[in-house]
Amino acid sequence: YAGKNTKSLLAEKIRSIKVSDIKAVPVVIKEETSVYDAIVTLFLEDVGTLFVVQEDGSLCGVVSRKDLLKIAMGNADIRQIPVSVIMTRMPNLVTVTMEESAFDAARKIVEHQVDALPVVKPEEFEGKVKYKVVGKVTKTTITRLFVELGRG
Ligand code: ADP
Repeated sequence: YAGKNTKSLLAEKIRSIKVSDIKAVPVVIKEETSVYDAIVTLFLEDVGTLFVVQEDGSLCGVVSRKDLLKIAMGNADIRQIPVSVIMTRMPNLVTVTMEESAFDAARKIVEHQVDALPVVKPEEFEGKVKYKVVGKVTKTTITRLFVELGRG
């Protein structure tokens, strides 16, 4: 007879957990970084997604494993090509803020079919909004949380 109550308790719980409680350390690279160096960074840092930032540290793109595989499979000279050419860019990026819930983050990952979300802090600069990268939430982050919740 654990039906509705248990379910709504679980919903309440995952909505009460904030992104700030679960976020992981992001790996960021500059937009001039070559595709070759981005692939090296992927291996060295043991991550699947890299966040690309401008000189001032604000978020401008995301590169995934498959973005890198795709370009590396062609005949392109990947030492000469900057990641800015292949990255998914603003304003098409799916992001979360510290105040959003673990549920919001997991929902965005599922709905937009991506592996990772940058956690951003919006900052207004000369009338423009810039997004500082302060963390990441990935499928691994959510799986970890799931395991923690399962432990009870
Ligand atoms: P992979 O491509 O390695 O399977 P993803 O599923 O995360 O990894 O990425 C799929 C596509 O979505 C890629 O082209 C990538 O650049 C883009 N992408 C990844 N993360 C995001 C994000 N947070 N917002 C927008 N686009 C993203």
